[in-house]
Amino acid sequence: PDRAAEIRALIRDVPDYPHPPVVFRDITPLLADGRALADVVEAFARLVDADGGVDVVAGMEARGFLLGAPLATRLGVGFLPLRKAGKLPPPVERVDYDLEYGSAAIELRTGTLEAGARVLLIDDVLATGGTARAAAELVERSGGRVVALAFLLELAGLGGRDMLPGRTVEALLRVE
Ligand code: 5GP
Repeated sequence: PDRAAEIRALIRDVPDYPHPPVVFRDITPLLADGRALADVVEAFARLVDADGGVDVVAGMEARGFLLGAPLATRLGVGFLPLRKAGKLPPPVERVDYDLEYGSAAIELRTGTLEAGARVLLIDDVLATGGTARAAAELVERSGGRVVALAFLLELAGLGGRDMLPGRTVEALLRVE
């Protein structure tokens, strides 16, 4: 059996959520499946090894935490949460970015990233790439080096990869 297809089948496509015409990719069935979760973490770990290793994993709120923390444990490195604005106590580093409607900001606790650390950025879904681009900027502004950006699922039709020129972008699964 094709393991990637089995794991893909555990990501449910929810039409018109949170509003039309969005098709939301819901990873909760995958998270609930112990073997699938372990296989996904292991697949990420192999990608990291192939990219030469990292010193720390940084995950985007919120689903990047769910994949990034077990990956960090598997790799034997620490984990940094990149949080939505206002969730972390000061002092923080902050990057503002534009959304389709309005704007957003992500923050990293000052002093938690060592200068020159090799960082893997992780999230569940790469859509337009705005979040990932801001996350990479946040890590670099804080003195880290982004080794690669890793995603469970790339929504290729939204062109997120084009927002990350010159970067190593890895996706375990891809849909148009
Ligand atoms: P982007 O900034 O690339 O447009 O959106 C990516 C961010 O939104 C990620 O943090 C991701 O978790 C979330 N996201 C966007 N679309 C989806 C989706 O269909 N499913 C899930 N699970 N997350 C999504």
